Amino acid sequence: APAPHRRPIRDLPDELISQIAAGEVVERPASVVRELVDNALDAGATQITLRLSAGGVRLITVEDDGGGIPHEELPVALRRHATSKITNLDDLETVATMGFRGEALAAIASVSEMSLLSRPAHQASAFLLDARSGELRPAARSTGTTVEVKELFFSTPARRKFLKTDATELAHCIESVRRHALARPDVGFAIWHEGKLVEQWRATFVPGQGDPQDAHDALARRLSDVLGEDFVTQSVAVQHRVGPVTVTGRAGLPDAARSRPDHQYCYVNGRFVRDKVLTHAARSAYEDVLHGHKQPIYALYVEIDPARVDVNVHPTKIEVRFRDSREVHQAVRHAVENALAAPRAAALAAASA
Ligand code: ADP
Ligand code: MG
Repeated sequence: APAPHRRPIRDLPDELISQIAAGEVVERPASVVRELVDNALDAGATQITLRLSAGGVRLITVEDDGGGIPHEELPVALRRHATSKITNLDDLETVATMGFRGEALAAIASVSEMSLLSRPAHQASAFLLDARSGELRPAARSTGTTVEVKELFFSTPARRKFLKTDATELAHCIESVRRHALARPDVGFAIWHEGKLVEQWRATFVPGQGDPQDAHDALARRLSDVLGEDFVTQSVAVQHRVGPVTVTGRAGLPDAARSRPDHQYCYVNGRFVRDKVLTHAARSAYEDVLHGHKQPIYALYVEIDPARVDVNVHPTKIEVRFRDSREVHQAVRHAVENALAAPRAAALAAASA
């Protein structure tokens, strides 16, 4: 066979590097939503408003009332691996923010028409940066940031072809916000699609004020607003601490189990994760009470020393690695078992009385 034609090794152009990197972070409109809401939360927002068009493919804007970006830093925010969240390896090992890789805005900008409109509290006016042209000019806005993302994947048609219908993409966008909203009852969320309000979840709690019961009530209220009242009436509170691991949230009663695992939410230090250790631990707590393929419902929040969990496993940070996964597995399993045992004990006592 003839030797395959070989081209010389060359550095890729910067734009192509960004587009390749973007593939890891931005798969569909919901990925953009996830990253922009992460950023708004990291900026200390108390209200986040999303406006979408065509399921987010044509337009996604995310507006927040967070700390904003000084105008001289707006161009820096778009650079790959530029972040205000970590500066060294120690920071990386104890990172408490949702973001830290400095990749999202650069990635999104390379596969869309993006603009940043932002105003920090101390700045007399807002500034608008057009990512494509680099043009930066004064504009009007109250304190906070608005990121606008238009025509996602317009320059990468191969990617655009993988998108589903607008309705499906919208559903994924909403699910992405739902995941954030379930972790942050202290933040209000609103989602508009084609000019219509499709979801609104109000903040019902101010962190640092009131007692722990208020935070607990706020979570129950948020779960009810986002997942439906049944989720709360058919679940019990989880509150458990083993060594360095704290598990809170709510676990569904066995009768509330569903045929699909669509009401299973796990968080580690406030971050939504998909993790086999956690789902296996939760499922095993139902071993004796759930049979067949029924899927329990739950929202579980694991708090653990950040040094005991690695969040830098995957570009989207949806996966984590625990330093001691047995410790976490046991904590979650016991937390859910104890929560489920309480109402059963009460029912037994009532029956024998
Ligand atoms: P990362 O979140 O990993 O730092 P991003 O590319 O998502 O990387 O954002 C880059 C930087 O832009 C952030 O570190 C932050 O300083 C700034 N930034 C992005 N979005 C916002 C926002 N909504 N409010 C304030 N600052 C923001
Ligand atoms: Mg980010």
